Amino acid sequence: MHEASLMQSVLEEAGRQAGAHGCSVIHLIRLRVGALSGVVPEALEFAFEALKTGTPAAAGRLEIERVPARARCRVCAREFELEDPAQPCPTCGTWDTVLVQGRELELARLIAE
Ligand SMILES: [Zn+2]
Repeated sequence: MHEASLMQSVLEEAGRQAGAHGCSVIHLIRLRVGALSGVVPEALEFAFEALKTGTPAAAGRLEIERVPARARCRVCAREFELEDPAQPCPTCGTWDTVLVQGRELELARLIAE
């Protein structure tokens, strides 16, 4: 399962960061997950519950911040939310757009002690 191996690396990274600050207990891990990241948030939560045992985050919580996909038009500079990964500019109709956000999969916040 894709999300399980991702969560494994998130837990390792969180453990490394907490350890670097002299912390051994992780209370909260907050992840930013883009709508086009290819990751299912529910599957991440499931993987977190399954994998956290025996890690510094064993008693911790996972928070997922969903980032909507947004693109900017290179012709008229309009920025708009993407409902579909392939979508023309709603103002001028061009396909000449660039993705601004939506592919994120990153550790946004870590609370540890
Ligand atoms: Zn446009």
